[in-house]
Amino acid sequence: MTDYKDLNIGVLALQGDFERHQHQLFALGADVTLIRLAAELRQVDGLIIPGGESTTIDKLLDRFALREPLIDFGRKKPIWGTCAGMIMLSKKIDDNLSGVTPLGLMDIDVVRNGYGRQVFSFHTDLRAELNGGMTTLKADFIRAPRITRHGDKVNTIAVYRGDPVLVVERHLMASSFHTELEEDTTLLRYFLDRSFRVEPGQAQR
Ligand code: GLN
Repeated sequence: MTDYKDLNIGVLALQGDFERHQHQLFALGADVTLIRLAAELRQVDGLIIPGGESTTIDKLLDRFALREPLIDFGRKKPIWGTCAGMIMLSKKIDDNLSGVTPLGLMDIDVVRNGYGRQVFSFHTDLRAELNGGMTTLKADFIRAPRITRHGDKVNTIAVYRGDPVLVVERHLMASSFHTELEEDTTLLRYFLDRSFRVEPGQAQR
């Protein structure tokens, strides 16, 4: 098994599901820094923006003066946004009645709660193309965002009912769904491996 002891991964801890990500990172042996201050970003190699409520995360980013530091961080360093985290990474939010201002780091547009208000959450086995082979992920969709557009440089790793739900773009990754609620760390390991174990010059997808 790959050793993750040399990594310190930040988890944005303003609101939402940060403790489950911390739990999974600890299970892999990585160090974790819960991020509430801009200065804490300097200690970490990569970052997870968890699910939660994007309207709240959006307000707290400004209150904690984290918006610009996060944009700077994401220009260079790996970030994985799950659910509300995907919304925050996006370029544009369709029908944005809530007034959330996304960070604009990934070339995707999303619609919040895009899998229907009547079905607030569901669990599904999702086929994903990880490391050149197909893997089944246990995916929880909880008032999940739907990707409505993505740019040419965005690669789709998993699809649900015809829409991309797991995408990567250079060192950034976003998933509509959660996997941290289960004990299965497959997708977390994929994020860490593609972010930190790729030889220089080797193409990422
Ligand atoms: N619907 C939430 C939002 O718009 C996201 C839900 C989640 O992160 N599980 O922020």
